[in-house]
Amino acid sequence: MTKPGVTTRQVHADRQLNQPADGAVHTSTTNSVLFEFEKTQDLVDVFQGKKMGHVYGRSSSGSMAALQTIIADMEGGIATACFSTGMAAITSTMLSLFKAGDHLIVSQYLFGNTRSFLDTLQDLGIELSFVDVTSIQEVIAARKSNTRAVFTETIANPVTQVADLRAIGKWSEEQSLLFMVDNTMTPPPAFDAKAMKVSLVLTSLTKYHGGHGHVLGGAVTDMGNFDWTLFNNIKPAYQVADERMWGITQIRKKGLRDLGATLSAQSAHLISVGIETLSLRMARSTENAMKLATYLESQEKIERVYYPGLSNHPQHYVAREQLGGYGAILSFDLVPGIEPCEFLDELKLVLSATHLGDTRTLALPVASTIFFENGQRERARMGITETMIRMSVGIEDTDDLVADFDQALAKF
Ligand SMILES: *Cc1c(COP(=O)(O)O)cnc(C)c1O
Repeated sequence: MTKPGVTTRQVHADRQLNQPADGAVHTSTTNSVLFEFEKTQDLVDVFQGKKMGHVYGRSSSGSMAALQTIIADMEGGIATACFSTGMAAITSTMLSLFKAGDHLIVSQYLFGNTRSFLDTLQDLGIELSFVDVTSIQEVIAARKSNTRAVFTETIANPVTQVADLRAIGKWSEEQSLLFMVDNTMTPPPAFDAKAMKVSLVLTSLTKYHGGHGHVLGGAVTDMGNFDWTLFNNIKPAYQVADERMWGITQIRKKGLRDLGATLSAQSAHLISVGIETLSLRMARSTENAMKLATYLESQEKIERVYYPGLSNHPQHYVAREQLGGYGAILSFDLVPGIEPCEFLDELKLVLSATHLGDTRTLALPVASTIFFENGQRERARMGITETMIRMSVGIEDTDDLVADFDQALAKF
């Protein structure tokens, strides 16, 4: 049988992983923190990595392992480690792989909290160059002798810049640099990490995977492309027999076990239920986003719409060629004189809320909320206008969303 498509695998993943005696189709969620061994030697062997198994709930559990298998399979990677939040996945991965004196090339268009965490990395002695990742020339120009990695998102939030992923991936591979991509905005099948030569995929599972705003989680997946023997920071203890597993082993030990931001069994279960409809929700949200972007662009009270699906978007062709969808984040500027908060208060269906990747359509004023801490100069550098509104488009009936904007715009 040929390998089933990603949607089929998402729906059937739990059932394929476990075949419990009672026929339960969901992975059982255990609340046990400890695991008993009949033979003490087995406990010793699991501790020493000679046998597979669980010893303590902070490091691993059956529920977490099941979700990790599903995500690795979806991404086409070799192994996944799950964390309590997307930020935990990002911070734990970076803190376990990099050390003072290393240099990283990072996107200047990043999720606000990731950007803020990078300040902490700098304080710890890790050198960073912030570059415009839509330009491969800028990425290349930032290379130093101590460069270890390149880090970017696929589609940035809120301005929707699209990184030149294919070019960066190819160059990173030539340079033997770790290529880390946060693909939260474009979960599979919208982003093919393997084809883009990504080494590590980082994802907030809180967004599209969970999908319903009721669970937090994060993941890092090793795509199996990177030669860890060329990476100086892997501790001897984690240089295991299978060289492809060096990175994820260190991330699991240093990042998950030592830093301790573990995903709970209940959260792992909620996320795996969310994954069953991920492709359907993503397709629907993306379709709605395209229609809404086109509608908003035609409105005289809207000055500008930012959405990669629009042909006037600066990276429209990059997105079309490199991604399997334009995502469901769109932003817009109202014409001067319409106050963003007042406008958002007139929307009845659309929720004024932070968060994204939800079934519901959400909107918020960017400069005064999620990028407030960055200050006006940094916002300008990221392309964020002071009156920008960001939307995460949900799965509602398109006509209802358009009608909501129609009635709100009519008030101004
Ligand atoms: C939300 C988000 C994160 C952080 O995820 P949490 O699960 O909220 O911690 C990281 N990166 C991107 C692109 C995000 O949108």
